[in-house]
Amino acid sequence: MVSLLRKDLSVRMAPKVYKNLIGGEWVETRSKRTHENTNPADTRDVIGVFPHSDASDVEAAVAAAKKAFESWRLVPAPKRADVLFRAARIMEERKEQYAKDMTREMGKVLKETRGDVQEAIDTLYFMAGEGRRLYGFTTPSELPNKAAMAVRMPVGVCGMITPWNFPMAIPSWKLLPAIVCGNTCVIKPAEDTPLSTLNLVQSLIEAGLPKGVINIVFGSGKDVGTPIVQHPDVRAISFTGSSEVGRLIGTMAAEQYKPCSLEMGGKNAIIVLDDANIDLTVDGVLWGAFGTTGQRCTATSRVIATKKVYEQLADKVAARAKKLKIGSGLDESVDVGPQINRSQVETTETYVGIGKKEGAKVLIGGNRLAAGGYKHGFFYEPTVFVGVKNNMRIAQEEIFGPVVSMIQADSLEQAIDYSNSVVYGLSTAIYTKDINKAYRAMRDLYAGITYVNAPTIGAEAHLPFGGVKATGNGHREGGWEVYEFYSETKVCYVDYSGRLQRAQMDTYDV
Ligand code: NAD
Repeated sequence: MVSLLRKDLSVRMAPKVYKNLIGGEWVETRSKRTHENTNPADTRDVIGVFPHSDASDVEAAVAAAKKAFESWRLVPAPKRADVLFRAARIMEERKEQYAKDMTREMGKVLKETRGDVQEAIDTLYFMAGEGRRLYGFTTPSELPNKAAMAVRMPVGVCGMITPWNFPMAIPSWKLLPAIVCGNTCVIKPAEDTPLSTLNLVQSLIEAGLPKGVINIVFGSGKDVGTPIVQHPDVRAISFTGSSEVGRLIGTMAAEQYKPCSLEMGGKNAIIVLDDANIDLTVDGVLWGAFGTTGQRCTATSRVIATKKVYEQLADKVAARAKKLKIGSGLDESVDVGPQINRSQVETTETYVGIGKKEGAKVLIGGNRLAAGGYKHGFFYEPTVFVGVKNNMRIAQEEIFGPVVSMIQADSLEQAIDYSNSVVYGLSTAIYTKDINKAYRAMRDLYAGITYVNAPTIGAEAHLPFGGVKATGNGHREGGWEVYEFYSETKVCYVDYSGRLQRAQMDTYDV
């Protein structure tokens, strides 16, 4: 009785009111508008009230970032990186709390949100190490008594726009390399997951990050995201989200000659050959397709299997999918949490309807759960389609829900063709015991990532991450490559000959 009463009271307690972070101060939005951050497993649970900001807040945040840039860029890189080392230790202590906050605001199960926080911690350590490298190079000049070198310089104020599915890891991939390089930032997190970005930045502040180096403006894409992209003092844009919005952002950035990194959608496939270890494959398909309720850019949305294994694999996947427990991610026994919001679960419903109309067969799942304990959340059953043809929409378009389409292929070559046939090119996988076939797949799958005998998900912080075609525009996050984006290469020549020397014209014969 007592615990029930407490639970009831906690639901009714006034939610915490959060503010934007501008120039090191927590300030109210000038718009005076707010929005509620609710738990997608039970929308009666309000996590907090966040600003619904507008362009005037962006203006103030960019001004603060511009001011901070003048001093931050002069702090030696190893000292900038020390802040990250300290923040990593703070985050380790708070990992459990931050994971719970994240599950509450975006729904994925605790084991996965612990992983999301851990990814930010790994990124903190990895990026902090770079503070003592940030290598340029020296090379001989073609002229005597002249030195030549290439060094890295920061870009300036960087604008960042992030999605909700990795609400701490993705902001960490952007903010951390940016500040190690000496840039300052204005970030707009997704409306559905403001708290996790705030938690990351809070750790950096407590670790000694100077005022104005990172500024957070909460709000919508239109009211906050677009003004960030269009602000002339924002010199680089990093975006992760849908290909549709990425195209808009890339176009706006191009108009102002801004470097722009776009990480976008995916329609990832696991190829399964006749000689695959089936039980291992089943584990991989379940994790790839239903982890994060299918809402990962790298989620396994297609399984392309050759004839001999197709049916057996489908049956085993369906049998295991049936046993997955669906519910609030805060319950440790739950395997699959809710979808992020009403619109996302409706998209899944729509695509399942399209799949049925196209003639594919639902082997398991196919229903929204909206009764009993599910009625205040956005739950959808793990769903397996069989008899899917490669040209069907459910085989070509990103669904971003717990739905996997099983396609049959005649050969490795056809499976690779099918995998490559979508507009996206993020993650791919192959299950086989034949090393020759595995290498052919690694060579011929046109995507940013290929896994062998592992599912399409599971990026590590120290390797480059990104995709081709409608998934990316040539940049990578994570790994060393990300420093190319957050720094400009500057070449310096020092002529100590004391006379005019003309490159390409003055020759010195030996
Ligand atoms: P989304 O494109 O709807 O939103 C992403 C961000 O862009 C949000 O912060 C949103 O507010 C903002 N935004 C929306 N419209 C805008 C506009 N007109 N101007 C400026 N900003 C705007 O995507 P989402 O629903 O948050 O995330 C899901 C998508 O993200 C999926 O397509 C998924 O594949 C993709 N994703 C890609 C990666 C990757 O690294 N490739 C990682 C995670 C998610």
